[in-house]
Amino acid sequence: IATKDDKINKSSQFKKQQTNPKFQKKVKATFVTLARNNDLWELLESIQSLEDRFNHKFGYDWVFLNDEPFSEEFIYETTKSISGETKYGVIPFDYWSTPIWIDTDKAEAARQDMKERNIIYGDSLSYRYMCRFESGFFFRHPYLDDYDYYWRVEPSVKFYCDIDYDIFQFMQDNDMEYGFTIALHEYIETIPTLWDTTKEFISKNPKVLAKDNSLDLISDDNGETYNLCHFWSNFEIGKLEFLRSKTYRSYFDYLDKSGGFFYERWGDAPIHTIAAALFLDKEKIHFFDDIGYYHGPFTSCPIKEEIRTKGRCSCNPRDDITFDSYSCMEKYYEFRGLEKPAELEKYQ
Ligand code: GDP
Ligand code: MN
Repeated sequence: IATKDDKINKSSQFKKQQTNPKFQKKVKATFVTLARNNDLWELLESIQSLEDRFNHKFGYDWVFLNDEPFSEEFIYETTKSISGETKYGVIPFDYWSTPIWIDTDKAEAARQDMKERNIIYGDSLSYRYMCRFESGFFFRHPYLDDYDYYWRVEPSVKFYCDIDYDIFQFMQDNDMEYGFTIALHEYIETIPTLWDTTKEFISKNPKVLAKDNSLDLISDDNGETYNLCHFWSNFEIGKLEFLRSKTYRSYFDYLDKSGGFFYERWGDAPIHTIAAALFLDKEKIHFFDDIGYYHGPFTSCPIKEEIRTKGRCSCNPRDDITFDSYSCMEKYYEFRGLEKPAELEKYQ
C-alpha cells in the first residue's frame, strides 16, 4: 500500500541547477520551429513569450525549418528577438513530399472521404507532410546535428510562468529523454490502423520494447488496443539521441511504408508518444508541471501555489486542463504514482 510519504512530490527529487546568466557551459540544445513565412507574426508572440520567461537568461539557439526559403523579413524579425544564435533551414524534398510507394489515387480518395466526414485537417495534403516530417525527419536536418536536445515551439503559443532553471540542463542531469506539458486523447478517425501497425512492428522486433515501459499508460487492456492517450507534441522537449536511434528510425520507416500518413492522417503526437511509451523506460519521460503553457484551445496552468508564486504565473488556474476529461493526465498520475496537487479542490 502506498503511503502519503511514498508519494511525496516527485518533482522535488529532481536536480534543478540555477545557472549563472552568462550563457556559458550550456547544454548542446536548441529550440526548433517548423513554420511558413506567413506564420511570422504569430511566431513572434511565441518567441517573445519564451524569451521573456526563459531564454533571455540562457541564450539557447533557435533552428527554423521551412519547406520553402525563409523571407528576409522573417529572418530579420526573428533574429532580433532571440538571444541565442538563429539558423534558417530549407527542408529537403524527400522529407516533404509523397513517397513513391504511395498510391496517390487512394490517398486522394482518403482525403476526400475524410473531408466529407469533417475530420480535422482530413482533406489537407500539406498537413500530412507536416505530420510525417515531424514524425520522422526534423531531427535529421543537418542543422540539428550540432545538438543533443531540442524544444519544439509553434506559432501562437504562450508561456505563463518564469522558468528560472535551465531546462536542458535539467533534462541532461536527470537523464530524461522526453518532456511534455499536456496529454490528450487523439481522434480515432485519424489513426484507425496505427495501433495494429505498431503491434505488427513490435511482433517482428520484440527486442525494441523497454523493460520498464509505459504500455499501461497508453493501453487499458495490456496492449490489445490503444487508449488514444498522447503527449501534445506542439510542446516537446526531447533528447535527439532517442529519435536518431535505430529503434525509433526503424519504427518510423515501418509506419511510413504502411502508408498511414497518407491513407489515414496519422499525427506526429501519437507516434512520438507510442515510441516514447514503448521504447523508453518510464523514468525517462517527464511531465513539466511547472510550465504554464497555452496552445489553442488548451492551457496547462500550474495550480500549485508554490510554483505560481515562484514563477509569477499569469494564467488562471481554473483554465488548467490537466485534470479535465479531455486530458489523460488522470491516467498518467495514477500510472506514475504521483500525488495530485492539494490545490486541485480549490479550483475544480
Ligand atoms: P495544429 O497545431 O495541429 O493545428 O497545426 P499547425 O497549423 O500549428 O501546424 C503545426 C506546425 O507546423 C506549426 O509550427 C506550423 O507553423 C507548421 N506548419 C504547418 N503546415 C506547414 C506548411 O505547410 N509549411 C511549413 N513550413 N510549416 C507548416
Ligand atoms: Mn499549432
